Amino acid sequence: MQREWPNIDSAWLMVRKGFSFAARVASWLVVLNCLGSTVYAQIASTDLPGPLIPFSNRKAAEIVLKGRDQLRVLVEKDLILDGLNFPRVCAWVSPEEYKQLEVEGWSISWLPPEAEPAPIGIPKGSLAFPLEAYPTYDQIGALLEEYALNYSSLCRVESIGSSAEGRNLWVIRITDHPEIEEDEPECKLISTIHGNETLGTVVMLDLVHELLTEYENDLRIRHLVDETEIWILPLMNPDGYSHTPRTRFNYNGYDLNRNFPDRVEDPANTTAGRQPETSAVMEFTRDHSFVLSANFHTGSQVVNYPYDSSAYWNTWKHPDWYTPDQDVFVQNSLAYSTHNPLLYSSGQFPQGISNGLEWYQINGGMQDWNYVWNRCMEVTIELSNLFSPPASQLVSHWEANRESLLSYLEQSRIGIRGIIRNSQNGKPIPASVEVSGREGLVHTDPQVGDYHRLLLPGTYTLQIQAQGFYPLTVHGVAVQSGTASRVDVDLDPAYSGWLIY
Ligand SMILES: [Zn+2]
Repeated sequence: MQREWPNIDSAWLMVRKGFSFAARVASWLVVLNCLGSTVYAQIASTDLPGPLIPFSNRKAAEIVLKGRDQLRVLVEKDLILDGLNFPRVCAWVSPEEYKQLEVEGWSISWLPPEAEPAPIGIPKGSLAFPLEAYPTYDQIGALLEEYALNYSSLCRVESIGSSAEGRNLWVIRITDHPEIEEDEPECKLISTIHGNETLGTVVMLDLVHELLTEYENDLRIRHLVDETEIWILPLMNPDGYSHTPRTRFNYNGYDLNRNFPDRVEDPANTTAGRQPETSAVMEFTRDHSFVLSANFHTGSQVVNYPYDSSAYWNTWKHPDWYTPDQDVFVQNSLAYSTHNPLLYSSGQFPQGISNGLEWYQINGGMQDWNYVWNRCMEVTIELSNLFSPPASQLVSHWEANRESLLSYLEQSRIGIRGIIRNSQNGKPIPASVEVSGREGLVHTDPQVGDYHRLLLPGTYTLQIQAQGFYPLTVHGVAVQSGTASRVDVDLDPAYSGWLIY
């Protein structure tokens, strides 16, 4: 998208600059008493100055289409479209864009702001799980910190970077032996890349709570945590989430889910020129070997899988709309949707799933980037038609998603897995694995040498390569349903004696 500078009165801007110099970040300790535990929150002062750039002046409008062809015209205008329920499509437009569309004769009207949902903030003393209120950014940090202290044998908490306005992007890593890398598939769940789509943040925190507190009681959860490395980033756009009113955009006015490299429009896989939240997630992804991922939104009810972007977007169901792993994406998406009645039975999408381009085209989305450049199988999960359902509905949303989340994470264990080592010294090596007929490499985790390639039952050929080693082809690998087949490989150094990893 083009960066747009909203009209700001210059005198007002000067005042804000004055405030920003005078601003001080204070912190204090907040104690929340809950369920017999105490949460200590390091809270940043709420008297931080407002943003110099007020996020974005785009608001949600509804355009009623006369035919699907008109959607193509809107896509070509590079508008930020956000959900299609034909013939109505939601578009985030500035007043100028709105006026222009009106002049051009589009049937457009501003969408009324969503009925004010429960305010953000868990009242003191009322923290309970599943969550019954939306936590503040500071309460989220405090909760994660509390888990890191109380469940140190099962999790680690870190910040993968800062938002444009300086808030932390907290992630929690949940697995047995969180202090070391193990031969386990790595999965990540990211919510609320759009700051006004708050439900996913609550569902992520409920999941964190469930995985940690039920580890001792629930064999299924214990197995999942023992055999998988689960990373959860509950709030990717803390600035938009914390702003009043909440906003889709980040502090600099960008839609972060249009800000990633794009296989058609923006194919340079670099963080240069991207927003800090985007860069942080790109670097975090690069530093790990994620095989399965999901990002959580609201505004619709569907599991949407790649591709979202294609050079052939105007040719209905062009083969380029589908990845070589279409079969796996469909199964993974169904693993989520079939257990969630809101998604499965919404009536808008068969079985609650859709290919991205069959719905509507976007460029610069996170899920395509994950697949195209990392072979990480990411889907976009839209949890509710309301952006921020009332607090009274939060518990039932958790209940509608619990089984789906567990089933989805369990998909990380299908297909083929193994460890690739140097035949001379038995050490793990950085290597890549490609499945014949499915262009694209999965990489080993260089510390352990493990790879995980999600596949459905069938017989496959693997091509294994590593710099400085003879490549190897492994034919006839049979995959059954359920747990992955194991193919460990020792590669011979290409120049034995002096070029050994
Ligand atoms: Zn969204």
